[in-house]
Amino acid sequence: MMGPPGSGKGTCARIISKIYGIPHITTGDLLREVASEETERGRMVRGYMERGELVPDEIVIGIMEERLSRPDCEGGFVLDGFPRNLGQAEALDRILEGKGVSLTHVLNLVVGDDVIISRLSLRRSCPRCGAVYHLKNNPPRRDEVCDECGAKLVQRSDDREEIVRHRLEVYEEKTRPLLERYRRAGLVREMSGDLPIDEIPEAVRRVLESG
Ligand code: ADP
Ligand code: ZN
Repeated sequence: MMGPPGSGKGTCARIISKIYGIPHITTGDLLREVASEETERGRMVRGYMERGELVPDEIVIGIMEERLSRPDCEGGFVLDGFPRNLGQAEALDRILEGKGVSLTHVLNLVVGDDVIISRLSLRRSCPRCGAVYHLKNNPPRRDEVCDECGAKLVQRSDDREEIVRHRLEVYEEKTRPLLERYRRAGLVREMSGDLPIDEIPEAVRRVLESG
């Protein structure tokens, strides 16, 4: 999955994971787990995330390498939030080459900055199961409580407006250029990041299965 913060990568990746029965690998969630550790590494990762900066490659690549080596990835997987810069893209190529597989699609979600800002400021997520809601477009049935598991929903500290703006700058500078690389390889498929949720499964099928 590619696309700016708030473009709906997580929602779309969850749907792909269900349709095709493959794991959804969310780098942000793996890093938030590390960030919750009371260790030197946990504190460091937390600092980068709270500022909206990319966590250093050595850490991210190590985590992804370990995750992708697990048996549930053998039949394919959907990557959400990785790679985010050139060094990570090169590392991913190496990891995949080592497994004897390659990327089949790069699904790019397209949305405007105004949509992103409004979306992230109304985004709430479940600290227990990872479900994501939008207070206006996809509200939980009960106010601020997770439909799936009943935990109290939270706003991520990096969804504050000034941090969101910085994450968008980081995206433009470091991540968007990767699209060019994947375009040259003929892998990129564009999809609107602004579809109603119930239209996503069909749109995904159309985009992924049209060659
Ligand atoms: P979003 O895609 O909306 O920015 P994520 O949950 O994917 O949200 O990422 C949140 C934060 O986690 C990022 O701002 C960054 O600090 C860190 N992060 C996630 N993925 C990566 C990555 N591949 N490399 C470095 N840092 C990352
Ligand atoms: Zn939950």
